[in-house]
Amino acid sequence: MEDQKTCPFCAEQIRQTAKLCPRCRQWLTLRSIRHPVIYMLAGVLPLLLGAALVFVMISRVLDTIGNPGPYYSEFASPLKILESNMNWTETSSGLRIYLTGVLTNESLQAWKDVEVECRFFDRTGNLIDAANGLARLTVLPESDSAFRVSVTPSRATNVYAGHRVSVSNARNTKSWF
Ligand SMILES: [Zn+2]
Repeated sequence: MEDQKTCPFCAEQIRQTAKLCPRCRQWLTLRSIRHPVIYMLAGVLPLLLGAALVFVMISRVLDTIGNPGPYYSEFASPLKILESNMNWTETSSGLRIYLTGVLTNESLQAWKDVEVECRFFDRTGNLIDAANGLARLTVLPESDSAFRVSVTPSRATNVYAGHRVSVSNARNTKSWF
């Protein structure tokens, strides 16, 4: 006669090695592939992993389509500012700084969505303000383009004595959006 144990659910005497109570059909262990929870996890986990993998692949494909190389960082400063002027203008949302200038493209790649970094200095040359502006323009290979960006000042107008503008990033024209 085999060792017996008591089912904790129905108090029936059942076999020591039973994983499922034959009387009340209650599972007594998780260590069985036929247990409903294990069965579901074994089926659902691969599905979830597969879905996550498909999601990663789709987002990578979209990124490649939306933002293909070559990247601006792969070039050694292909866009350079030739000249820039700083003007104050009163707008409906307050006083704004307009930076107007000309940039040149020394590379053989056309660029768009040029990110312009603006630094502002006081009379002694200390950095007092900084801002980034986006110039929605396209500058063709080995040509110039005028740009204008506007930034919101954070200081009083009389502390601005000088400025310097440089290009921090741009996107190549192969990107779809
Ligand atoms: Zn039972």
